[in-house]
Amino acid sequence: MSDENLSCSFCGISKVQTKILVAGEDAHICDQCIEQAYSILNHQTQIKEINSVKNDISHLNPKLIKKFLDDYVVGQEYSKKVISVCVYNHYKRINHETLDDSLEIEKSNVIIAGPTGTGKTLIAKTIAKMLDVPIAIVDATVLTEAGYVGEDVENILTRLLQAADYNIEKAEKGIIFIDEIDKISRKSENPSITRDVSGEGVQQALLKLMEGTIVNVPPKGGRKHPDQNFIKLNTSNILFIAGGAFDGIERIINRRLNMSSVGFKNSELKAKIDDSTIISNIKPNDLKDFGLIPEILGRLPVLTYMLELDANTLRNILTEPKNALTKQYIRLFEIDNIELTFTNQALDYIVEKAVEFKLGARGLRSICETILIDDMFNLPGSKTNKLIVDKNYIESKIDGTNFTNLKEAS
Ligand code: ADP
Repeated sequence: MSDENLSCSFCGISKVQTKILVAGEDAHICDQCIEQAYSILNHQTQIKEINSVKNDISHLNPKLIKKFLDDYVVGQEYSKKVISVCVYNHYKRINHETLDDSLEIEKSNVIIAGPTGTGKTLIAKTIAKMLDVPIAIVDATVLTEAGYVGEDVENILTRLLQAADYNIEKAEKGIIFIDEIDKISRKSENPSITRDVSGEGVQQALLKLMEGTIVNVPPKGGRKHPDQNFIKLNTSNILFIAGGAFDGIERIINRRLNMSSVGFKNSELKAKIDDSTIISNIKPNDLKDFGLIPEILGRLPVLTYMLELDANTLRNILTEPKNALTKQYIRLFEIDNIELTFTNQALDYIVEKAVEFKLGARGLRSICETILIDDMFNLPGSKTNKLIVDKNYIESKIDGTNFTNLKEAS
């Protein structure tokens, strides 16, 4: 067939009428059909993206969510269970919200109480990863210090929008993790001298976001560009997870428990305060006594707690999770063709030091960095292709001189 007689196999247009006619094995396609096919493809991808959140949840159930969390978060069984149920219900609520107008399932925002470095942020991040939804992690203390709280609180949403690459639909189904919620407690209930009553103002501002409302969000954040075009974001389906250490909450819990059980001797009472599991008795009222306003507690209806990490858990954290610290270092060295191994004794020793320095899980990383920094600097590009980290080696790296640095770094 001569070139002039060729035509597009899709629309039939002849070659002379096209700019380009691309030849396949038995067919041809013209430039216009390529463009049209491309736009169909684009459109379909967009629809797929929009629906991805819905699709993700459709095959999940609380047990599967918990299983996913287990891969990343060691221990904290109670919290993982509670949060799995709550996340499941939350996304079920979003996906079925139009089923029956008369029955509105309320949002299940969560508050997690527990010492720092026990995995609160990690749980929130892992949930976001599993659902493939954007997450914004914000520190409540920043909101207090800035003064003009209203605007700053909206900036939380700017962060979420940015995490969603400005895809409003995605952002509206994202997760906001508010860290250090305990630091914005009402002063009267909280002996901290560094906070003033503005803590309550921030709580009020946060309350509005959590209630579910349409907020004008400055796309670039801040207050420097008053004439930037605001983006309207509906917060009704955003999952809020708040975390806080609530230092001293043990006393409040203990007081309440004592009031309900008459006849404790002083020694028994003291033993209870020191008991690191007393937090498992926490109730919303304790948080109110700590200084959170009842309205905000009402908007964070699911309360759970994290336990202090013991040596066993720390040991597991080092090696077990999917992205366990030791696995990460082994991989880093592997890229440079260096085989890194930690002896069991070495791992026990790292944990022992983390406990001794009271560094918790965050300390594991700073200890590993201190041990490996020289090797990470020297070995790439050298002839060494093996590194065994044992107890003696660690001892030679963690001596008196960098001990203080370690503490500061954590
Ligand atoms: P929090 O928010 O409670 O202060 P994080 O979640 O930020 O603590 O924990 C800090 C780091 O410690 C995490 O990035 C993780 O590496 C490690 N970590 C803490 N708790 C756990 C846990 N339960 N399981 C696995 N890793 C943990």
